[in-house]
Amino acid sequence: MRSHLLNDATAESYRRSVTEGVERVASRLAATRGPFTGVTPAELAPVIDAVDLDRPLGDSSAALDELESVYLRDAVYFHHPRYLGHLNCPVVIPAVLGEAVLSAVNSSLDTWDQSAGGTLIERKLIDWTNGRIGFGPSADGVFTSGGSQSNLQSLLLAREEAKTDDLSKLRIFSSECSHFSVQKSAQLLGLGRDAVVSIPVDRNKRMQSVVLAAQLEACRAEGLVPMAIVATAGTTDFGSIDPLPEIAALAEEYGAWMHVDAAYGCGLLASPTRRHRLDGIERADSVTVDFHKSFFQPVSSSAILVRAGATLRHATYHADYLNPARTVAERIPNQVDKSLQTTRRFDALKLWMTLRVMGADGVGQLFDEVCDLAAEGFALLAGDPRYDVVVEPQLSTLVYRYIPAAAASPEEIDRANLHARKALFASGEAVVAGTKVDGRQYLKFTLLNPETTAADIAAVLDLIAGHAEQYLGETLVHA
Ligand SMILES: *Cc1c(COP(=O)(O)O)cnc(C)c1O
Repeated sequence: MRSHLLNDATAESYRRSVTEGVERVASRLAATRGPFTGVTPAELAPVIDAVDLDRPLGDSSAALDELESVYLRDAVYFHHPRYLGHLNCPVVIPAVLGEAVLSAVNSSLDTWDQSAGGTLIERKLIDWTNGRIGFGPSADGVFTSGGSQSNLQSLLLAREEAKTDDLSKLRIFSSECSHFSVQKSAQLLGLGRDAVVSIPVDRNKRMQSVVLAAQLEACRAEGLVPMAIVATAGTTDFGSIDPLPEIAALAEEYGAWMHVDAAYGCGLLASPTRRHRLDGIERADSVTVDFHKSFFQPVSSSAILVRAGATLRHATYHADYLNPARTVAERIPNQVDKSLQTTRRFDALKLWMTLRVMGADGVGQLFDEVCDLAAEGFALLAGDPRYDVVVEPQLSTLVYRYIPAAAASPEEIDRANLHARKALFASGEAVVAGTKVDGRQYLKFTLLNPETTAADIAAVLDLIAGHAEQYLGETLVHA
C-alpha cells in the first residue's frame, strides 16, 4: 500500500496517474456536446450505490474507468458555452495548473512552519488585491473558502468593533437583494432575529440610500446600534451594484462598519475598462471577493480584505500547539492568526499562477467580455416580444421571463417558465437559473463564459420559448 504514497520513490507513478487523469478529463472536455446529460438523481443513484467502497479496485486506471460512469459522463460542465446557470465560471488553465501543484505539495496555510513561501505568496496577493481596492498601507486580509465565510468573518469583526456588548441592540443593514449569507451570519453571530434590516432597492435593483438613511436615523432614535451596512457590489441575481459612495458617507455619519460584498463584482478590480463602477469601495472597512466567480478560478478561491489590518485581531486565538503567543513577538507570519479556518488550502497559488501567466488585464478582459455579452443579450431580450426582461445589466446577469402571446394567468406564466427551465435542464441542451421577482417566477442567465455568443443566447431563448409554448398548449388542452 505504500506504493500509493506520493514521495520520492513513487514520483514516476504519480506522473503516470495524474497524466492519465488529465488525459481523461481532456478527452471528456473535447467530447462534451452539451453542458449536461440531463441525468436524473433516480438514474444516477443506483450507479453510485452499486460501488462497494470496501472492495477497492487497486489501481488508478480502473478507478478512472469507473469514474467515467459515476461522475465524468454526467457532470455539469461550466466550460460549455450553453451553461448559463449559477455564478460558476469556466476556469483558466494557469489556475488549474496551480491547483495540481498545490494539492500535490499540500501546504497548509495556517502557520509558517507548514507553508513557508506559501504564506508570503498569499500575503503578496492580499496586498495586490488591497492595492486594486485602493486601501492604504495598514490594510490586510486572508484567503477564505468562499464569499459566505468572508461575509461571516467581516460581520464578526463588525460585531466586535460595535459600541455595545448588548447583542440584541445590534442592527445590520443590507438590501433586499443581498446574499442570504448576511442573514445566516447574523444568526451565527448570536444577533437577534430582527438584526438584519432589509432595505428596498430601486428599479435597477440597487439599495435605496434615501431609505437607508431613514432607517439608520430610526435605528438611532430607538436607541439601537447600527453595527454594519452591507453594500453588495454585484448582487447574486441582478449583478446590481449598490451606491457605494452614498453608503460610505452614511456609514461614516452613523459610525457603522461598512462591508462591501463584492463576491461577484470583484472581477471589476481587474477590468481595464470598468473599474470605476466600484468607486467608493476603498472607503469600506471590509470587502469580500470571490476569485472563483469572476476571476475564472477553480472552487475554492476567495478572500476577505480589511482596511485596518488590526481589526483582524478579533479572529486571533493562540494555541500552544500551533501559534503560541511568542510567535507574534518573534515576527513569525502565521496566517491562522487572521483566519476562521485552521488547516487551510493554498488557494492563493491559483491566482498567483493566473497573474504570472496572464496578468491582471488578461483576467479583466475576460470579465469585460462577459459584461459586453450581457449588454448584447439585454438588447436581444428587450427587442423580443416573447420576453420581459427586468433590468439593464451592470455586470453579466440577465433576469427575464417568457410571456405568451395568448392570454394566460400569472400563475400559468409562472408554471410555464418553471417548466421551461426544468425541461431545458432535462434535455441537457442548456442550463439556466431561476429566481423570483416580486413573487413571480423568472429565469436567469449568469454569463461568465467568454465563449458564449449572442447566437447561443438567441438559440437558448428559442428553446425556452418552445418548452414554455408546449407546456401552455398542453395545459390548455387538459383544462
Ligand atoms: C456567491 C455569493 C456569495 C457567497 O459566496 P460563496 O463563495 O458561494 O460562499 C456571497 N455574496 C454574493 C453577492 C454572492 O454572489
